[in-house]
Amino acid sequence: MSDKLTFTPVIGIEIHIQLKTKSKIFCSCSADYTNDEPNSHICPVCMGLPGSMPVLNRAVVRQGMLAGMALNCKVQPTTLFFRKSYYYPDLPKNYQITQSDLPIAADGWLEIKDDAGKPKTIRINRLHLEEDVGKLHHSTSDGRLEGAETSWVDYNRSGLPLAEIVSEPDVSSSREAVEFVTMLRRRVRYSGASDVDLEKGMMRFDANVSVKCSDGRWGRRVEVKNMNSFRALEHAIEYEIKRQSEILAEGGEVLQETRHWNDAKGVTSGTRVKEFYRKFIVEPDLPPLVVSPEWVEEVRATLPEMPADKASRYVKEMGLTETDAAVLTDSLDVARYFEACVAAGANPVRAGNWVRTEVLRAVNEKHVDADALAVKPESLAELILRVEDGKLSTTLARQVFDAMLEGLSLEEAVKKSGAVEGGMGGSALGDLVRATLAANPDVVEEIRSGKDAKGKKVKFLQGLVMREAKGQARPDEVASAIEESLKPE
Ligand code: ADP
Ligand code: MG
Ligand code: ZN
Repeated sequence: MSDKLTFTPVIGIEIHIQLKTKSKIFCSCSADYTNDEPNSHICPVCMGLPGSMPVLNRAVVRQGMLAGMALNCKVQPTTLFFRKSYYYPDLPKNYQITQSDLPIAADGWLEIKDDAGKPKTIRINRLHLEEDVGKLHHSTSDGRLEGAETSWVDYNRSGLPLAEIVSEPDVSSSREAVEFVTMLRRRVRYSGASDVDLEKGMMRFDANVSVKCSDGRWGRRVEVKNMNSFRALEHAIEYEIKRQSEILAEGGEVLQETRHWNDAKGVTSGTRVKEFYRKFIVEPDLPPLVVSPEWVEEVRATLPEMPADKASRYVKEMGLTETDAAVLTDSLDVARYFEACVAAGANPVRAGNWVRTEVLRAVNEKHVDADALAVKPESLAELILRVEDGKLSTTLARQVFDAMLEGLSLEEAVKKSGAVEGGMGGSALGDLVRATLAANPDVVEEIRSGKDAKGKKVKFLQGLVMREAKGQARPDEVASAIEESLKPE
């Protein structure tokens, strides 16, 4: 019987994102402690000392609104903070302050493609603000609590501003999950609400997975915690779908539980510990948060055009391919660089080719944003125009670009590349053209007898001459020298 059963996964994703602010959510401790000593950015508030009072950081609210807007959420005019009580060493005050289900933003959505390539909407239940907790370090080699002789706790992370984003259970596969979080990450990064740097732990995932069996049985949802990369999210979901399907196939029952993803072993395991008793009470030390419509509109005005809108504009208005448009819009700094290059007069398709190859290569090699490159988009536009005018070959232009990357001006770089201002010119070029034509009598014959309507064969000869000239000839002079020589004697 079992080989006739099919299983449909139902998946909801919870995403924690560290919002980008100078200070923590309820105190003035610095939010940037990279490489600093443990417990060097703490105060009575984020340590949870009795008598300390939280004060909400306005910048966190703004960033939360921006992230919510980037996810098509509606900003909620009034919200409250709660105390979510639980007991653990990473949380000295024994409760976490969170907006929980009275969030700053709600009812959003993103459109992805389903596994068949059709558009599909993933609804976003809410985005709520909360504080991060401390970080435990254990003396074991794999960093796990089990078997640790000593454990330390670092409260630098306590009170960092987080946005928790909760999707509706609209995701149906691990691939959809990865596409959803990839798109979500890109949009949040565009909004400026977070750097969403996965390596720095600024984006973490939990997945709620259940499986529906074709015979009508539907397992309870299992919450898998502790994924901090796209790959971990993908593998954890796949693992859970398989595990739950096998249980249902054998006639068993899937129990509702929280499981932990072990990245090293590639498995999920029951946490054994019973879910902590969680109780919510209204946070008495924080007044309700009221966001005025004026503030919402002011924040909305700073939201840049989103990547999918940019990409379809590049396709419709500039004639780029969908693939190129997607590459160019992956991050805002690169998209802005491209747009500035076009605004400075470069042909969009040529500019797109330059940006997605040479500019992206430079950005990756130098680990900087595109706007920090020594080559400004206006200079690249000028370079592209020179190639278009035939004053520089593409090969030479690449050398010029590389020299500009090291800080030379366009003129200096052109000089350094050895490109002769006036081209090769004179008899040297004439000799080269004659030799090339003589070596390709068949091609010459075909052109002369009118069999090259599309000009492909002439292009072929030009390419040969350019290559022989080793960058010393200008494309336009080569073209006219060949044209001259091809005229019937
Ligand atoms: P809780 O308050 O226990 O966290 P929620 O209703 O907020 O419960 O849901 C938490 C997550 O579980 C959401 O991402 C949601 O999409 C997901 N979810 C709800 N029902 C299911 C289900 N049947 N299968 C898988 N995920 C589900
Ligand atoms: Mg939850
Ligand atoms: Zn503090």
